[in-house]
Amino acid sequence: MVDMTDEPERDFDIDLADASEQLIAAALGYADVPPLLCALAGALDDPDLVPDHLRPDLSIPMDPDAGLSAEQQAEARALALSALLRIKAQGPRPATAIATDKLRPLLEYLASDDQIDDDIALCREELALGEDPRAPGWIKADVAPDREFRVAIIGAGMSGLVAAHRLRQAGVDVTIFEKDTDVGGTWLENSYPGCRVDVSNHFYSYSFAQRPDWPGHFSERDVLLDYFRDVADDHGIRPLIRFNTQVTEMRFDEPSGLWRLALATPDGDTSNFEANIVISAVGQLNRPHIPDITGRDTFAGPSFHSAAWDHSVDLADKRVAVIGTGGSAAQLIPHVAEEAAELTIYQRTPAWFLPTPDYEDPVAPGAQWLFRNVAGYANWFRFWIFFRNVEGLIPAATVDPDWEGHRDSVGPFNDLVRQLFTAYLEAEFADHPDLLAKVIPDYPPFAKRFIRDDGAWARTLTRDNVELVTDPVDEITTDGVRTVAGRERAADVIIYGTGFLASDFLMPMRVIGRDGVPLHDQWAGDARAYLGMTLPGFPNLFMLYGPNTNIVVNGSIFFFSECAVTYILGCVHELLDGGFGALEPKVAVHDEFNQRVDAENLKMAWGTSSVHSWYRNATGRTAQNWPFSLADYWRATRAPDLDEFEVTPAPS
Ligand code: NAP
Repeated sequence: MVDMTDEPERDFDIDLADASEQLIAAALGYADVPPLLCALAGALDDPDLVPDHLRPDLSIPMDPDAGLSAEQQAEARALALSALLRIKAQGPRPATAIATDKLRPLLEYLASDDQIDDDIALCREELALGEDPRAPGWIKADVAPDREFRVAIIGAGMSGLVAAHRLRQAGVDVTIFEKDTDVGGTWLENSYPGCRVDVSNHFYSYSFAQRPDWPGHFSERDVLLDYFRDVADDHGIRPLIRFNTQVTEMRFDEPSGLWRLALATPDGDTSNFEANIVISAVGQLNRPHIPDITGRDTFAGPSFHSAAWDHSVDLADKRVAVIGTGGSAAQLIPHVAEEAAELTIYQRTPAWFLPTPDYEDPVAPGAQWLFRNVAGYANWFRFWIFFRNVEGLIPAATVDPDWEGHRDSVGPFNDLVRQLFTAYLEAEFADHPDLLAKVIPDYPPFAKRFIRDDGAWARTLTRDNVELVTDPVDEITTDGVRTVAGRERAADVIIYGTGFLASDFLMPMRVIGRDGVPLHDQWAGDARAYLGMTLPGFPNLFMLYGPNTNIVVNGSIFFFSECAVTYILGCVHELLDGGFGALEPKVAVHDEFNQRVDAENLKMAWGTSSVHSWYRNATGRTAQNWPFSLADYWRATRAPDLDEFEVTPAPS
């Protein structure tokens, strides 16, 4: 990246057709060089724009320049300038699909090894340049025109919307049940101040609904919520949703081969619905966890959870207590500190912070100009983030069994990250040794979710009206919070930033499978599924963001849901095309998959560390995380293999 701080203000509202060479050159200062060259080479069908000597080097993790020297970048920008002047002379062009043989050299320019060979179809799907490669490619009217077939989706958040979109594309009858009043799921429910996405925003989006003009690198909640609303409207999904409708129970009916759903609305109405297939898209971080602290109900003032923010409570001039310092709390705490008279933060375990200087920055106008004016650059930019995240920081989170280094790390690469993160905290709290001692974690990075920070944490904790308490909470009184050491600190308001019941997959629904077996009895507190989606005894039940599909150090959850939906569409096609009644994975297939996942998770920082985190359930098993690469999930979910399933004939 070029340092643009001394760059004079320019009018980036001018389009390429009218732009001066100086304006184009200035905009190019904001470019991410490798994806820009790919976009230009694709647009001009000119492989000379991705020369070998300007190839990025991805061996340096988290390097914003991807190993390109200042000279290489300058040469690349000069090349890009001449290309843009050619495009300007020829007239604007839309982003168009690139044939596979022409795509390959562009991807090979980006790749540092031979991974492209296997995965060119994956690259094509994620790039989605002028095409939608993940579209089903079949419609029900052609496959099984006379069969009555209905799909019920539970939840209209990120996963539910993509499932509905793809089923709709395939012409399958689909109904979505949503307990809330609008789409968006977690982005609807979480309205706390400071709420923003902590994954690069260009990447945190659907492949089929890419948005080039995100206002921030990590946009705020309202922006995300609007995105989901737009997707629901633009893709005809909203009319398929029954809002204010909670699924309280679903039961598989053996004779008919249908799932029977019991529905309830807030005003007490109940009804039923029958479906051939149910897709649960209820999320993992959906049910707030408020710890059962002694005296909790005796507190005299208002108290609420971060995911159920009470906007009627004015925090100005109040003494506020925040319990918890996870991802949600770390975002809301700086805002509460600015508003409240006093803020007391109760921290049980400190977090590792990932330095992210541009965390709250808007996307610079020069960069926005490039997204707007260079056809395909936004797609390549998004793809570039994806590409670097296929493995992401998995090597840095992997346990080295021979590691004999620092006790708060699990291997040399992990220790390097620990040192970097520690140095960051030491610099941030250099003048506050008392605080520094409290904020440095004593567990390996990536054993818990890291938190992005642009300096807000230190700025907040060092304020005069803020106190960080590490003495454990013992009791909540009518007037405040008492810690184990016996000191009571007064509070007018308590905010619980205490996370979610992440291990309680699909709760509080009652789910009854074959032979009347309740799902939660079968799981017994240890949710498992095949590929995070299906499980024996529950025919035609699919889960999105189900067990072991959360990612910690690579990728975005959008990718997982899109892959899973491709797989589910494949199952729907098999059912329709084969005239089958139901599919459920074989026990051996399910068990072998889970053994592999468990073994791999035990090789990861989050699987071995004893620190408390929402990644593990009460049995101690990592029931949330996917320990492999993104490409591994993509390969596993491209299409169902019927040999892995028990197939039930359709009832006559
Ligand atoms: P969380 O990470 O589970 O954090 C919960 C916090 O509450 C932790 O600090 C925890 O302490 C504390 N806590 C829980 N019970 C407690 C008790 N009895 N006494 C004292 N402290 C207690 O939950 P979260 O912050 O809501 O975040 C959950 C996940 O949501 C994140 O990891 C992230 O994946 C996602 N998230 C994403 C975004 C985003 O993209 N914008 C924002 C927020 C959250 P311990 O650490 O000791 O357990």
